Amino acid sequence: VERTLAIIKPDAINRAEEVEDIILKSGFAILQKRRVTLTPEQASDFYVEHYGKLFFPSLVAYMSSGPVIALVLARDHAISYWRELIGPTNTLKARQTHPDCLRALYGTDDQRNALHGSDSFTSSEREIRFFFPDSII
Ligand code: ATP
Repeated sequence: VERTLAIIKPDAINRAEEVEDIILKSGFAILQKRRVTLTPEQASDFYVEHYGKLFFPSLVAYMSSGPVIALVLARDHAISYWRELIGPTNTLKARQTHPDCLRALYGTDDQRNALHGSDSFTSSEREIRFFFPDSII
């Protein structure tokens, strides 16, 4: 069993119950869950790998614009399976190519894409610790 960090981002927070239903129906266990409003500084830390990119300031503003729900999900191949389920980064492109993915269903535009998923084992460890510092991995 593998773990990954999922985030229901501010633009999808009102659809959180629906998204959690889909998560459970897709065979994930929700091991931990936390609703939190990130400060701009926390959002910058979380997305530090994108520091310096053109979209960084607006990404930080978006991610600190309202509450998010961070979830630790577990199942076999959780990292790749969750990323497949959420689909391509750009919601508008996702709607063209992967109309059933969660970003196509719940996202807003190229930036406000409803959901996050860790992209590797190393980032999943870092991101789980970011939201759940007391968790034992
Ligand atoms: P996430 O890390 O949220 O799963 P991702 O791995 O698919 O997304 P990244 O390239 O890591 O995509 O980008 C992180 C986030 O930054 C994206 O989810 C999106 O909200 C935002 N973003 C990425 N690229 C752009 C862009 N070109 N313009 C605006 N926002 C962007």
